[in-house]
Amino acid sequence: MKIYVDKIPEGGLELSEKIEPGLLSLDEQTVVNFIKPIDVKAHVIKAGAEIFVDVLLETSAEYTCAKCLSKFEDIFRKRFDIVREVRPAEIVELDDEIRQEIILDYPMKIICKAECKGLCPNCGQNLNIGECECR
Ligand SMILES: [Zn+2]
Ligand SMILES: [Zn+2]
Repeated sequence: MKIYVDKIPEGGLELSEKIEPGLLSLDEQTVVNFIKPIDVKAHVIKAGAEIFVDVLLETSAEYTCAKCLSKFEDIFRKRFDIVREVRPAEIVELDDEIRQEIILDYPMKIICKAECKGLCPNCGQNLNIGECECR
């Protein structure tokens, strides 16, 4: 997402863009896989030599459960602010910051549901689906 500093009006600027996850180099992740373009909405205000950007990200992601290894889909949503010092007529590129914010927000441990039973350590059966023969 690009912001043209000299095009920010007095009352601020609303921007909206869809970014393909591949463009942010986010497709090499294994635990979180973005399956839709990332919906980016930004509200930009310029005050003196600084811009303030309120960013809202929203997309769907496919996660892999750390316990049972099943894949499931969930909404990924994040809101954050960026403050940048700018020069007049500068073109500010926000993709790097957006990527950082997304990566920061990856959950440490992803579990499909709180009561996930995981896999049997012996035979590998998914215990959410059914009991195995092991005792
Ligand atoms: Zn699970
Ligand atoms: Zn088993």
